[in-house]
Amino acid sequence: MVNCIFCKIIAKELPAKVIAENDTTIVIQDIAPKTPIHYLIIPKKHVADITQLQTEDKNIAADLLFMAKQLSEQNPEARDFRLIANNGSGAGQVVFHLHFHFCAGKTLSF
Ligand code: 5GP
Ligand code: ZN
Repeated sequence: MVNCIFCKIIAKELPAKVIAENDTTIVIQDIAPKTPIHYLIIPKKHVADITQLQTEDKNIAADLLFMAKQLSEQNPEARDFRLIANNGSGAGQVVFHLHFHFCAGKTLSF
């Protein structure tokens, strides 16, 4: 998608600290972390938000959750975590390419 910051990161046209990657999913460090561990779990396919997922995207959507499980299992500090998806500008979404915030660490207070 033209002018989508996450599509550019996925295409390696913009830099990001990549935490994990597979065929369908990329995980990057959030540029402005709100918690000690703050990753973004992003499908490589451009989907604007959860409401735009199609039936054929079921596996992609499931892969996002399994990536969260994997991130948690890999890091004892992320055994407990939150997954947050802001859906729509009214909910605080700023980047309109579906992503889950993976938040963990000692100061989860919101
Ligand atoms: P949203 O509000 O759309 O759910 O969250 C967007 C998130 O993307 C924010 O937490 C913001 O800090 C992060 N972000 C925005 N631009 C960039 C960027 O260029 N690189 C990275 N790594 N994160 C970004
Ligand atoms: Zn995109």
